[in-house]
Amino acid sequence: MRHHRARPLHILAIAPVAAMFAGVLGPTPHALAATAKAPSPIVVTVDPGHGGEPTPAHPNISFDPGAIGTNGLLEKDVDLDVGLRLASLLRADLVDVVMTRSTDVYVSAARRVQVSMAHHAALVVSVHAGASTNSGIDGSLVLYPTSASAAFAQTVSDALTAQITTDGVPDAGMALGDAGWLRSPAPVATVEMGYLSNRSDASLMTTAHFRQDVAIGVRDGVEAYMPAIIARRDAIRAWRGGHSGAVLPGSLAPASATIAGTSGFQFGTVIVWLVGISLVGLVLLFRDAVARVLVVLIAVIARLFGGVLGAIMWLRRSAIRSRRRRRRVRTDTGPEQPYRQSGSVYDDIPL
Ligand SMILES: [Zn+2]
Repeated sequence: MRHHRARPLHILAIAPVAAMFAGVLGPTPHALAATAKAPSPIVVTVDPGHGGEPTPAHPNISFDPGAIGTNGLLEKDVDLDVGLRLASLLRADLVDVVMTRSTDVYVSAARRVQVSMAHHAALVVSVHAGASTNSGIDGSLVLYPTSASAAFAQTVSDALTAQITTDGVPDAGMALGDAGWLRSPAPVATVEMGYLSNRSDASLMTTAHFRQDVAIGVRDGVEAYMPAIIARRDAIRAWRGGHSGAVLPGSLAPASATIAGTSGFQFGTVIVWLVGISLVGLVLLFRDAVARVLVVLIAVIARLFGGVLGAIMWLRRSAIRSRRRRRRVRTDTGPEQPYRQSGSVYDDIPL
């Protein structure tokens, strides 16, 4: 009698196994989206120079303000602002931008290259401002670490000049430099947007207008050197147009990006229901065993709870004991350490 009654429950118990097989063998929503894979965005590293500030409590933490303007402007701040502007311009063209820093933190030269290489960047733009002991020197300069980057640097220099000479910063050309990027397999252009040691350049660098112009000029140079960026942008847009219900590609898509109403979403709901119903079935099928297990569990929890109560009482007693023993504990932490200065505040610019 009992055997016959239990048969539908057996079927329910098999359901989770069936659902798992369906999940493994059948096309998952992810696989369905991948059958027509989205074009992957092109990766570009944006590297705002320098960064970080002295931390009196932790004198061993490195910091690097970069060059300091005649007006007190710190290079690290203008580098970061222009870097963030450049990143958002590139992202608007669906570039996957990797930033070596996006806040005011110190990042070693080796780490910058490491991050860029780990993301397989196609191009690297390092954002800096120059400084010279000769305050008469002005202009924008683009550095390249090896001859392999010369053509990229030239293209960026041309586009940057076209954008900012009207602002009043002349073209200072190109130069071999920025050895920090020697190991980069991707072409590197290190943009020195102007000279902070020059009053006119430093003053311009405080304005949002000039900073945006630098970002626009560099963006134009990057896209002129690599026309694939615009082609890829158009391809991604076209793909999205044809897959309006699909998950966005690569890092452009938030991890939680799902669009309601797709077949994939309903498939997941069916699995959840099957598993839920099956669990209820299992409980009913083995209700005697479940009851026994529950009794044991309750006994164990009761025991544990008793143990915890005992531990709390013990801690309370020992806290009272130690309070009685306690004496003055504060001691001097020793003499102040001098801040560790980073390397030269001047960039690797041939003057
Ligand atoms: Zn710099």
